[in-house]
Amino acid sequence: MADTKLWKIWVLDFNDEGELIFEKKVVKFDEKFLPVDIDEEHLAQDMSEYLILPTFADLHLHIPQWQFTGIGSGTLLNWLNTYTFPAEKLFEDKTIAYTTARSLLSKLLQTGTTAAVTFVSIHKSAVEEAFYAAKDLNFSLFAGKVLMDQNAPDFLLEDTYKAIEEAAELSEKFGRQHVITPRFAITCSEKLMEKAAFLARKYNLIIQTHMDENVDEIKTTESMYGKPYYKVYEETGLLTPNTLLAHCIHTPKQALETLAKYSSKIVHCPSSNMFLKSGLFNFKTSSNFTTVFIGSDIAGGPNPTMWHTLQQAVYVNKLISQSNEELEVSITELFKSATYKAFEFLGLNEGRIKENFKANFQLVDLRPFEIQLSTLEKLGKLTSQNVLQLLIMNYPLSNPKTFIKGHPLEKA
Ligand SMILES: [Zn+2]
Repeated sequence: MADTKLWKIWVLDFNDEGELIFEKKVVKFDEKFLPVDIDEEHLAQDMSEYLILPTFADLHLHIPQWQFTGIGSGTLLNWLNTYTFPAEKLFEDKTIAYTTARSLLSKLLQTGTTAAVTFVSIHKSAVEEAFYAAKDLNFSLFAGKVLMDQNAPDFLLEDTYKAIEEAAELSEKFGRQHVITPRFAITCSEKLMEKAAFLARKYNLIIQTHMDENVDEIKTTESMYGKPYYKVYEETGLLTPNTLLAHCIHTPKQALETLAKYSSKIVHCPSSNMFLKSGLFNFKTSSNFTTVFIGSDIAGGPNPTMWHTLQQAVYVNKLISQSNEELEVSITELFKSATYKAFEFLGLNEGRIKENFKANFQLVDLRPFEIQLSTLEKLGKLTSQNVLQLLIMNYPLSNPKTFIKGHPLEKA
């Protein structure tokens, strides 16, 4: 009990109805958030100059690509050959796999991300090392062995049956934390995709892959298979309610209707889409069909912080809605896709300032924003959305500190 904290503090979080609230209240926590009795409220430590808000879940990134994040240029297909594949080969070395995963996950924690769905490499041992690093750091990691059996360099190609066998072993060992990960249709045979879909169904696992990221990728896929991109995934059984499709920038209406039919989800990766010159994602139209989450897409996206990724999502949406205001999405909606909705999808009791949820949160010192906050108050505009926007658009000035299970994160 010695470690229990009772704070009177500003809270920016979603309520059970999914509405963003901004209010000063008393919160109590040890490793989890605890119920507060009315007769103990007066004992709370005054933290009125601070605010707490939930942590993020990053639903698309590649751990091996942390080795060259921010480096490189070009567009998707040549970038994969020049940077990504050689860096992924290095993950056959367990030590490199562990130290890279640990370095990236530490960085994510420092910038407020406490859960992620990630690609690793084709190496089973590298996936295991990523899970060990996550356990050491108290990070909620979902990760998958990348499946590829065609159209990649020989050093990253596997026999179809061996790839599936190892994915099955990882699924047995790590359960729902292991993600079924066919890279994308170009590097996977139909047989591999069918077997991957079967595994996901058997173990009730998340599936992650890429779709409609880049115009050349789409052309190559459609000429290889002689059908629309989404049909390749539909017919091999990869579209499920647990499927995460990264990007979907150029996805036509008919394909979006198919995603809606299967309740498959999209992960929007705004910084990556600009860095690799892939295109601008239409969040509003896509989210009319299905749920959209947010991903940093390290290292297509050069920056691992979700604060930065959300800023980029705001700018992409501004460009998309430039000539049609109906396509504008609120910053609250974008934030919800990176927090509340993402944690709900993952089935984790974190990502909310809520009783019995893990006491993971971000603490922000409001004093640097004294002028802006008092101005908002004078103008009668001190709303949850305005406070959220102030913090996101001013990152890293807002400088949040991450708390894990009730404790400030130590430098790892
Ligand atoms: Zn990706």
